[in-house]
Amino acid sequence: MKVIIISDMEGVAGIVNWNQVSAGKEGYQEGRRLYTEEINAAVRGAKAAGAKEILVMDHHGAGGDYNFNSLIPDLLDPDCEFVVQSEWTEYTEFLEEGCDACLLIGMHAMAGTPDGVMCHTVSGQNWTNLRFNGVLIGETGINAALCGNWDCPVALVTGDVATCKEAEALLGEGITTVAVKKGLGRFSARNFPSVRAREMIEAAAKDSLKNLKGVKPYDPGRPCTIEVEFTTPDALFPFGRKPHVEVTGPRSVTCTADDWWTAWQNFYF
Ligand SMILES: [Zn+2]
Repeated sequence: MKVIIISDMEGVAGIVNWNQVSAGKEGYQEGRRLYTEEINAAVRGAKAAGAKEILVMDHHGAGGDYNFNSLIPDLLDPDCEFVVQSEWTEYTEFLEEGCDACLLIGMHAMAGTPDGVMCHTVSGQNWTNLRFNGVLIGETGINAALCGNWDCPVALVTGDVATCKEAEALLGEGITTVAVKKGLGRFSARNFPSVRAREMIEAAAKDSLKNLKGVKPYDPGRPCTIEVEFTTPDALFPFGRKPHVEVTGPRSVTCTADDWWTAWQNFYF
């Protein structure tokens, strides 16, 4: 069995504010350690379920040279490999080769979620709403669509309670979720201690991979229209002049293609 772990930092137990997830801030090194250890828990669970090849892909934009590079290499479980990439959703080779399941670890809820800890979608400053064929989507949905393009289902989502609810609503009740904290606001949460959160993640990773019958690859629909509402008109600028992107208002664009991956590449890269 081949397993991909796609991870973000905001949904890790004990992490509640930007100080812990932003490169250069004093809380970042602590945040990296908490983050890496939750990934290790998922790796242990995947191994226990029989995974022979485990690839970890950090999707957290910590800023500068630490974008998609927040994991601590010499703390990572030796039985995985990890990708550092320069652009989000850039690396797809492992999925293209064929991958049995994805574990989404440390995820956060979509922009505008009242009880979502550090909720945002792609860019907290620049993006207000993202829709795939009219359905509001967060980063869980983007990652699920990325995996789904190569027939890889998401088996597990971890994060706060709001993220787990978002995942179940989009991907169905067959998905396993682990809530390691309950958001009390955007920068406050009631957390499980890290050690317990890791135990929960390890057990859920193992269980979810042992029975993949209840999960299926996510496809937002064909053809697929991606719609983004930006917070301000200037945020639209880098996207609005791309050949396949249509400007539909002062702060909104759409991009349509035969399938989600084509539309995403035309819009995002
Ligand atoms: Zn992040």
